[in-house]
Amino acid sequence: MQPSFPIEQTAPKSRRTRQASVSWGTRVVTVGGGAPVRVQSMTNTDTVDAIGTAIQVKELALAGSEMVRITVNTPEAAQAVPHIREQLDRMGVDVPLIGDFHYNGHTLLTAYPACAEALSKYRINPGNVGKGDKRDRQFGQMIEVAMRWNKPVRIGVNWGSLDQELLASLMDENSRRTEPWDAKAVMYEALVTSAIESARFAEGMGMEGRQIILSCKVSGVQDLISVYRELAMRCDYALHLGLTEAGMGTKGTVASAAALSILLQEGIGDTIRVSLTPQPGEARTQEVVIASEILQALGLRTFVPSVTACPGCGRTTSTTFQELAKQIDDFLRAQMPVWRKRYPGVETLKVAVMGCIVNGPGESKHADIGISLPGTGEAPAAPVFIDGEKRMTLRGDAIARDFQQVVETYIENRFGTHKVSEAA
Ligand code: SF4
Repeated sequence: MQPSFPIEQTAPKSRRTRQASVSWGTRVVTVGGGAPVRVQSMTNTDTVDAIGTAIQVKELALAGSEMVRITVNTPEAAQAVPHIREQLDRMGVDVPLIGDFHYNGHTLLTAYPACAEALSKYRINPGNVGKGDKRDRQFGQMIEVAMRWNKPVRIGVNWGSLDQELLASLMDENSRRTEPWDAKAVMYEALVTSAIESARFAEGMGMEGRQIILSCKVSGVQDLISVYRELAMRCDYALHLGLTEAGMGTKGTVASAAALSILLQEGIGDTIRVSLTPQPGEARTQEVVIASEILQALGLRTFVPSVTACPGCGRTTSTTFQELAKQIDDFLRAQMPVWRKRYPGVETLKVAVMGCIVNGPGESKHADIGISLPGTGEAPAAPVFIDGEKRMTLRGDAIARDFQQVVETYIENRFGTHKVSEAA
């Protein structure tokens, strides 16, 4: 009898029906409507520093970010935006830029048309576009600019800057209920209502629904899951997903992975960002690496060759295999910007670096290329498995260098041939 569990399980595709296009030049990044889940990131440079910002955007793009958001908070920053774009174009980086606006976006986008043109999408926070009767007018001004330049917008609600007038009115409404909701439920409702009502307002002005992406970011894992399930149920706009202020290091990484994975597994989320606080000295690109790894681990996207490595134990008294695993992982990642073009499909490569004979040969056979290093007391030899077969044994002090060479040759033979036959 066949077992009932699914054999090839992957996360489902997003169920959003609307698809936004975020583009620059000939580069078009589709979001939602069955498109692959997109990775995006945000710079932490001063936007006024056009060169510094362009360099960081390039780094993020090379790491795999498909859209990059930059702060546009002052007239000087707005003036710098077209220069950042020009600099990127000169460097051959066509990643779409997203402008992040708060408080004065209506003024900046109107006063600096070159900024409005150079950006590929505008992020608008409905919680801080203005109070009272100014709110709709100023929000509307930004939508008008977006329509004039044919740019999509992300209506990005954040619980740290939630529309307080809307929250107060929902709280009042709640107090009149015979059985009032929990205060947290009212806050969730305010987040979702703020996003959806703002989107409907924009559509009422003539903006097409496919030009609108929504997000409702919170910093708690369970809060995020509850809010996005509700948001996904109540609208069909493409959704940007992310845990805001996720934190630093392991905590931020784990919290983001936990929250995003559950939602992505339910088909919720069309583009993601991991809002990681970089540790001192850590590269900004780490948030792109983690976002990509989340999608790759779920089987939704494939970005880089995967390296399977065992955790090591008392059978590995040297650090050789840890060093080799890291060295191979770093090497594969560093080559990807070039290999992506030169060796189509190389991102599907699976490499195994194992610490001893217990699981080493078995795991290595499951990979495209695997090496089983000698554990304590084992003969100083490292069998290498290629496509499931033992092909050679490496010995001596240069095992790491030799294995790297074997990996490179395998890639050239397997993925380089593909390129040649395509060209032919
Ligand atoms: S493969 Fe060997 S070294 Fe690695 S965890 Fe298993 S027993 Fe330990």
